[in-house]
Amino acid sequence: MRTLVTGGAGFLGSHLCDRLLAAGHEVIALDNLFTGSKSNIAHLSGRTGFEFILHDVVNPIRLEVDWVFNLACPASPIHYQSNPVKTVKTSVMGTLNMLGMAKRAKARILQASTSEVYGDPLEHPQKETYWGNVNPIGIRSCYDEGKRVAETLMMDYHRQNRVDTRIIRIFNTYGPRMAVGDGRVISNFIVQALRGEKLTLYGDGSQTRCFCYVDDMIDAMIALMNYEGPDAAEPVNVGGEDERSISAIVECLGEILGRKLPVEHLPLPHDDPTRRRPDCTRARQRLNWRPSVSLPDGLRKTVEYFRKAEPME
Ligand code: NAD
Ligand code: UDP
Repeated sequence: MRTLVTGGAGFLGSHLCDRLLAAGHEVIALDNLFTGSKSNIAHLSGRTGFEFILHDVVNPIRLEVDWVFNLACPASPIHYQSNPVKTVKTSVMGTLNMLGMAKRAKARILQASTSEVYGDPLEHPQKETYWGNVNPIGIRSCYDEGKRVAETLMMDYHRQNRVDTRIIRIFNTYGPRMAVGDGRVISNFIVQALRGEKLTLYGDGSQTRCFCYVDDMIDAMIALMNYEGPDAAEPVNVGGEDERSISAIVECLGEILGRKLPVEHLPLPHDDPTRRRPDCTRARQRLNWRPSVSLPDGLRKTVEYFRKAEPME
């Protein structure tokens, strides 16, 4: 098996490369290094069966592969909002290019979609059948609508060209190899706590999320790619179902670090979803997937990573 991972130098992509290589795949990691880093895949350089290609998915590329995991796209709001037009291009043109390649090479392709396709959801928890509540003209829409079009392209290539497609709707995932400056909540809070800074809590902290540890997410991505059912092209939610407020995350991290963590309240960003929790029935039934790492355990592992990556305390 020859497998392409776009966004392969990023947080999730680099873990996916590790797991695919361990399973005996030849792996091509393709990345433009916008938010990813060569340091995430440095341990793989020179390894038989691994190749890195510096490339931007908005431009076509011709590769002979059996599987494609299309992860290329900045995932943190600060990064995807820093050049929103590029974010739309990455999701739309990038997915189009990868689908064109999958069609020609007769490859199976998985699109990394997101809980953001549900926007600020009016249905709770969110099932795959919910169509969402997305602001099409807001500051998050370059990401949300870009991913929604990517899903549309996947389904249309599937129906029109019989491309073998998979869509995973990823809910907030965290763990080692998130960049220090990533900007998402778990890495921000851990880095701030280790530096002895105040934790930047946006809004009153009552907004909720469910967090999934990276290893559990990679299990699901590979399981979905291996799933062969007649409904395999349908989107599948994957994430934690343990819903917590962002204030509760501060408390949980404080318990792990053994001290009360001071917070600095900052304004809630525009269109920040109020509540989010996946209904993962489909992932359980079709993929036999269940997360195995609890939030405190996952946070402990992530704290250890940041302590080693950048000694700060
Ligand atoms: P990340 O920012 O660490 O990784 C994204 C990678 O894509 C980076 O290596 C970046 O350099 C690369 N990239 C960005 N634009 C590119 C382009 N035009 N061409 C080539 N490479 C490009 O983020 P992540 O958390 O690893 O996310 C990976 C994927 O999963 C993304 O598609 C993201 O939307 C999706 N996702 C992640 C989460 C999460 O919680 N981690 C949640 C929902 C969806
Ligand atoms: N958040 C926060 N402080 C931070 C970063 C994020 O309070 O330093 C909040 C943010 O407003 C959101 C939640 O944490 O309500 C999750 O944010 P993140 O950017 O990690 O993911 P997303 O909003 O895309 O779910």
